[in-house]
Amino acid sequence: MNRLTWVPLILAAFLASTACYPPRNAMQKTARKYQSGKLTEDTSYIYQLPFRAGTKSRVIQGYFSRFTHKHRAALDFRMRPGTEIRAARSGIVIRTKDDSNQGGWNKKYRPDANFVMIEHEDSSRASYRHLKYQGVLVKEGEKVTTGQVLGYSGKTGYSALPHLHFMVSVFQEGRWVQIPTRFESNPETGYLRPWRKYKSVNVPRYR
Ligand SMILES: [Zn+2]
Repeated sequence: MNRLTWVPLILAAFLASTACYPPRNAMQKTARKYQSGKLTEDTSYIYQLPFRAGTKSRVIQGYFSRFTHKHRAALDFRMRPGTEIRAARSGIVIRTKDDSNQGGWNKKYRPDANFVMIEHEDSSRASYRHLKYQGVLVKEGEKVTTGQVLGYSGKTGYSALPHLHFMVSVFQEGRWVQIPTRFESNPETGYLRPWRKYKSVNVPRYR
């Protein structure tokens, strides 16, 4: 292949990878604005980071990013396998799974993620995904408090590297909608941004 052929090919591939796509979720634009700091609000619930107080984790994927969160208002926290996952907010455990030891960089593994799902008092639900095999410490129906250990991180399910996928959904107009949430953290409290490291405060002040 000569140069005249592959230069336009590379250009086309580049443009395709950066091209905009229509937002499927109405929250998408708002979420990006929250994350970039263009939009602020001070009324929503403030979550605690889902790991031990005093420890740090880097957000390796933010809301609606193009890698695997294209249609998800979810955060990925980089985590060494076996790291304690802690409740970001109190609630009732409504579903768990920890019988999978499958995972990897392939969509076929999507149903294989181990997880804990918690319902909060306002009926919103948080899910904590990719936990390790037999790594869930709570039971369905159990009440959990902010900061309580729910289990251990891993990389089960559709996951390129070990991390925690954290996501909150609310039931609106007949369907579950994922929403961005604020966190209390060091150095800042608010909407977390990709590639930054955040330190958990994890004081169960907000229940
Ligand atoms: Zn994720």
